[in-house]
Amino acid sequence: MIGLRNGTRGAERLAEMLRASERAVALTGAGISVPSGIPDFRTPGEGLWEKVNPMEVAHIDAFRRDPDRFWGFYRERFVMLRDKLPNPAHEALAELESRGVLRGVVTQNVDRLHRAAGTSRLVEVHGSIARCVCPECGWKVGLDAVVEMLEAVEGAPECVACIAPLKPDVVLFGEMLPEAAIQEAYELASEADLLVCVGSSLEVHPVASLPEVTLEAGGEVALVTQGPTPYDRRAAVKLSGDVVEELRAVLELV
Ligand code: ZN
Repeated sequence: MIGLRNGTRGAERLAEMLRASERAVALTGAGISVPSGIPDFRTPGEGLWEKVNPMEVAHIDAFRRDPDRFWGFYRERFVMLRDKLPNPAHEALAELESRGVLRGVVTQNVDRLHRAAGTSRLVEVHGSIARCVCPECGWKVGLDAVVEMLEAVEGAPECVACIAPLKPDVVLFGEMLPEAAIQEAYELASEADLLVCVGSSLEVHPVASLPEVTLEAGGEVALVTQGPTPYDRRAAVKLSGDVVEELRAVLELV
Protein backbone atom coordinates (compact mmCIF):
# COMPACT_ATOMS: atom_id res chain seq x y z
CA MET A 1 0.00 0.00 0.00
CA ILE A 2 1.36 3.33 -1.09
CA GLY A 3 -0.16 5.19 1.85
CA LEU A 4 1.51 2.86 4.32
CA ARG A 5 4.88 3.12 2.62
CA ASN A 6 4.65 6.89 2.57
CA GLY A 7 3.76 6.84 6.24
CA THR A 8 6.80 4.74 7.06
CA ARG A 9 9.03 6.99 5.02
CA GLY A 10 7.72 10.03 6.90
CA ALA A 11 8.51 8.38 10.24
CA GLU A 12 12.00 7.48 9.01
CA ARG A 13 12.62 11.03 7.90
CA LEU A 14 11.42 12.49 11.22
CA ALA A 15 13.49 9.96 13.19
CA GLU A 16 16.53 10.96 11.13
CA MET A 17 15.88 14.65 11.80
CA LEU A 18 15.51 13.99 15.53
CA ARG A 19 18.78 12.06 15.62
CA ALA A 20 20.56 14.92 13.85
CA SER A 21 19.02 17.66 15.99
CA GLU A 22 20.54 19.05 19.15
CA ARG A 23 17.73 21.19 20.48
CA ALA A 24 14.49 19.57 19.33
CA VAL A 25 11.27 20.61 21.04
CA ALA A 26 7.73 19.22 20.73
CA LEU A 27 4.67 21.43 20.49
CA THR A 28 1.37 19.68 21.14
CA GLY A 29 -2.33 20.37 20.81
CA ALA A 30 -5.66 18.69 21.40
CA GLY A 31 -5.01 15.97 18.79
CA ILE A 32 -2.50 14.18 21.04
CA SER A 33 -5.13 13.71 23.75
CA VAL A 34 -7.95 12.50 21.51
CA PRO A 35 -6.73 8.86 21.78
CA SER A 36 -7.01 9.30 25.58
CA GLY A 37 -10.72 9.95 25.14
CA ILE A 38 -10.61 13.73 25.38
CA PRO A 39 -12.51 15.25 22.47
CA ASP A 40 -11.23 18.39 20.79
CA PHE A 41 -13.86 21.01 21.52
CA ARG A 42 -13.48 22.43 18.06
CA THR A 43 -14.81 19.16 16.65
CA PRO A 44 -18.56 19.88 16.47
CA GLY A 45 -21.03 17.72 18.34
CA GLU A 46 -18.51 16.00 20.60
CA GLY A 47 -19.21 15.07 24.20
CA LEU A 48 -19.14 17.78 26.79
CA TRP A 49 -19.07 20.70 24.37
CA GLU A 50 -22.00 19.39 22.37
CA LYS A 51 -24.69 21.66 23.73
CA VAL A 52 -22.75 24.70 24.86
CA ASN A 53 -20.62 27.38 23.33
CA PRO A 54 -17.19 27.03 24.98
CA MET A 55 -16.48 30.71 24.31
CA GLU A 56 -19.40 31.56 26.60
CA VAL A 57 -19.28 28.97 29.36
CA ALA A 58 -15.48 28.89 29.64
CA HIS A 59 -15.14 32.67 29.59
CA ILE A 60 -13.60 34.68 32.44
CA ASP A 61 -16.69 36.92 32.46
CA ALA A 62 -18.93 33.88 33.04
CA PHE A 63 -16.73 32.93 36.02
CA ARG A 64 -16.78 36.44 37.48
CA ARG A 65 -20.49 36.96 36.90
CA ASP A 66 -21.69 33.69 38.36
CA PRO A 67 -19.01 31.34 39.73
CA ASP A 68 -21.59 28.79 40.89
CA ARG A 69 -23.07 28.52 37.43
CA PHE A 70 -19.59 28.44 35.88
CA TRP A 71 -18.68 25.53 38.15
CA GLY A 72 -21.99 23.86 37.39
CA PHE A 73 -20.61 23.37 33.93
CA TYR A 74 -16.91 23.11 34.70
CA ARG A 75 -17.17 20.45 37.42
CA GLU A 76 -18.12 17.83 34.87
CA ARG A 77 -15.10 18.70 32.77
CA PHE A 78 -12.80 18.51 35.82
CA VAL A 79 -14.13 15.16 36.97
CA MET A 80 -14.02 13.77 33.42
CA LEU A 81 -10.43 14.90 32.88
CA ARG A 82 -9.19 13.60 36.21
CA ASP A 83 -9.75 10.01 35.17
CA LYS A 84 -8.04 10.23 31.78
CA LEU A 85 -4.71 8.52 31.22
CA PRO A 86 -1.79 9.36 28.94
CA ASN A 87 -1.61 7.37 25.70
CA PRO A 88 1.45 6.01 23.83
CA ALA A 89 1.85 9.32 21.96
CA HIS A 90 2.35 11.20 25.24
CA GLU A 91 4.64 8.38 26.38
CA ALA A 92 6.71 8.50 23.19
CA LEU A 93 7.47 12.20 23.77
CA ALA A 94 8.41 11.54 27.41
CA GLU A 95 10.69 8.72 26.29
CA LEU A 96 12.35 10.94 23.67
CA GLU A 97 13.01 13.53 26.37
CA SER A 98 14.48 10.97 28.75
CA ARG A 99 16.79 9.75 25.96
CA GLY A 100 18.01 13.32 25.49
CA VAL A 101 16.45 13.61 22.02
CA LEU A 102 13.85 16.23 23.00
CA ARG A 103 14.50 19.25 25.22
CA GLY A 104 10.91 19.45 26.33
CA VAL A 105 7.27 19.85 25.41
CA VAL A 106 5.22 23.01 24.92
CA THR A 107 1.51 22.26 25.07
CA GLN A 108 -1.84 23.96 24.62
CA ASN A 109 -3.50 21.16 26.54
CA VAL A 110 -4.65 21.63 30.12
CA ASP A 111 -5.21 17.91 30.76
CA ARG A 112 -1.85 17.32 32.55
CA LEU A 113 -1.33 14.08 30.56
CA HIS A 114 2.20 14.99 29.45
CA ARG A 115 3.17 15.29 33.12
CA ALA A 116 1.45 11.99 33.88
CA ALA A 117 3.41 10.36 31.03
CA GLY A 118 6.69 11.55 32.57
CA THR A 119 7.61 14.66 30.57
CA SER A 120 9.77 16.74 32.88
CA ARG A 121 10.27 20.03 31.03
CA LEU A 122 6.66 20.93 30.28
CA VAL A 123 5.43 24.37 29.31
CA GLU A 124 1.66 24.64 29.62
CA VAL A 125 0.74 27.82 27.75
CA HIS A 126 -2.96 27.51 28.61
CA GLY A 127 -2.41 26.43 32.21
CA SER A 128 -3.48 23.10 33.71
CA ILE A 129 -6.38 21.51 35.53
CA ALA A 130 -3.78 20.12 37.97
CA ARG A 131 -4.77 22.86 40.39
CA CYS A 132 -7.18 25.67 41.17
CA VAL A 133 -6.16 29.05 42.45
CA CYS A 134 -7.87 31.65 44.65
CA PRO A 135 -8.17 34.91 42.67
CA GLU A 136 -8.10 36.89 45.95
CA CYS A 137 -5.16 35.48 47.90
CA GLY A 138 -3.39 33.16 45.46
CA TRP A 139 -3.98 29.99 47.52
CA LYS A 140 -3.53 26.89 45.35
CA VAL A 141 -5.34 23.57 45.64
CA GLY A 142 -4.53 20.33 43.84
CA LEU A 143 -6.95 18.55 41.52
CA ASP A 144 -7.88 15.72 43.88
CA ALA A 145 -8.76 18.12 46.68
CA VAL A 146 -10.83 20.22 44.25
CA VAL A 147 -12.76 17.17 43.10
CA GLU A 148 -13.43 16.28 46.76
CA MET A 149 -14.78 19.80 47.33
CA LEU A 150 -16.91 19.53 44.20
CA GLU A 151 -18.35 16.25 45.42
CA ALA A 152 -19.12 17.71 48.85
CA VAL A 153 -20.90 20.90 47.80
CA GLU A 154 -22.98 22.33 45.01
CA GLY A 155 -21.61 25.36 43.19
CA ALA A 156 -18.10 26.76 43.26
CA PRO A 157 -15.36 25.30 45.48
CA GLU A 158 -14.13 27.99 47.87
CA CYS A 159 -10.78 29.17 49.18
CA VAL A 160 -10.31 27.97 52.79
CA ALA A 161 -8.69 31.29 53.73
CA CYS A 162 -10.98 33.93 52.21
CA ILE A 163 -14.02 31.99 50.96
CA ALA A 164 -13.60 33.42 47.46
CA PRO A 165 -14.64 31.04 44.65
CA LEU A 166 -11.64 29.14 43.29
CA LYS A 167 -10.71 29.46 39.65
CA PRO A 168 -9.23 26.62 37.62
CA ASP A 169 -5.58 27.42 36.88
CA VAL A 170 -6.33 27.30 33.17
CA VAL A 171 -6.53 30.19 30.76
CA LEU A 172 -10.21 30.92 30.22
CA PHE A 173 -11.45 32.73 27.14
CA GLY A 174 -10.92 36.47 27.61
CA GLU A 175 -7.95 35.94 29.96
CA MET A 176 -4.31 36.83 29.55
CA LEU A 177 -1.89 33.99 28.85
CA PRO A 178 0.58 33.17 31.65
CA GLU A 179 3.59 35.38 30.98
CA ALA A 180 6.35 33.10 32.26
CA ALA A 181 5.07 30.11 30.28
CA ILE A 182 4.73 32.15 27.10
CA GLN A 183 8.25 33.49 27.49
CA GLU A 184 9.66 30.00 28.01
CA ALA A 185 7.72 28.71 24.98
CA TYR A 186 9.16 31.45 22.77
CA GLU A 187 12.66 30.80 24.10
CA LEU A 188 12.40 27.08 23.39
CA ALA A 189 10.97 27.72 19.91
CA SER A 190 13.65 30.25 18.98
CA GLU A 191 16.46 27.99 20.22
CA ALA A 192 15.01 24.87 18.60
CA ASP A 193 16.75 23.44 15.56
CA LEU A 194 13.66 21.24 15.14
CA LEU A 195 10.13 21.93 16.28
CA VAL A 196 7.91 18.84 16.13
CA CYS A 197 4.27 19.95 16.11
CA VAL A 198 1.93 17.17 17.20
CA GLY A 199 -1.86 17.09 17.04
CA SER A 200 -2.35 20.80 16.52
CA SER A 201 -3.90 22.69 13.62
CA LEU A 202 -1.57 25.56 14.66
CA GLU A 203 -4.32 28.12 14.39
CA VAL A 204 -4.68 29.29 17.98
CA HIS A 205 -2.39 31.87 19.55
CA PRO A 206 0.31 31.52 20.88
CA VAL A 207 0.96 28.11 19.39
CA ALA A 208 0.21 29.40 15.88
CA SER A 209 3.23 31.69 15.92
CA LEU A 210 5.82 29.35 17.47
CA PRO A 211 6.73 27.46 14.25
CA GLU A 212 7.31 30.87 12.63
CA VAL A 213 9.73 31.71 15.45
CA THR A 214 11.65 28.46 14.87
CA LEU A 215 11.75 28.92 11.08
CA GLU A 216 12.92 32.51 11.34
CA ALA A 217 15.72 31.48 13.69
CA GLY A 218 16.90 28.94 11.10
CA GLY A 219 15.33 25.80 12.58
CA GLU A 220 13.12 23.23 10.90
CA VAL A 221 9.50 22.34 11.50
CA ALA A 222 7.98 18.84 11.38
CA LEU A 223 4.25 18.14 11.56
CA VAL A 224 2.53 15.09 13.02
CA THR A 225 -1.09 16.01 12.60
CA GLN A 226 -4.21 15.14 10.68
CA GLY A 227 -5.77 17.93 8.65
CA PRO A 228 -4.24 21.08 7.20
CA THR A 229 -2.07 23.59 9.06
CA PRO A 230 -0.78 27.00 7.94
CA TYR A 231 2.74 25.46 7.91
CA ASP A 232 2.13 22.49 5.59
CA ARG A 233 4.26 23.96 2.80
CA ARG A 234 7.14 25.08 4.96
CA ALA A 235 7.42 21.93 7.06
CA ALA A 236 10.35 19.63 6.27
CA VAL A 237 8.10 16.61 6.80
CA LYS A 238 4.45 15.96 7.55
CA LEU A 239 3.09 12.75 9.06
CA SER A 240 -0.67 12.68 8.70
CA GLY A 241 -1.56 9.26 10.07
CA ASP A 242 -2.89 8.36 13.49
CA VAL A 243 -0.84 10.22 16.11
CA VAL A 244 -0.20 7.13 18.25
CA GLU A 245 0.91 4.98 15.29
CA GLU A 246 3.09 7.72 13.88
CA LEU A 247 4.91 8.53 17.12
CA ARG A 248 5.36 4.86 17.97
CA ALA A 249 6.99 4.34 14.57
CA VAL A 250 9.22 7.38 15.04
CA LEU A 251 10.27 6.26 18.53
CA GLU A 252 11.30 2.84 17.22
CA LEU A 253 13.40 4.40 14.50
CA VAL A 254 15.19 7.08 16.51
ZN1 ZN B 1 -8.16 32.99 49.04
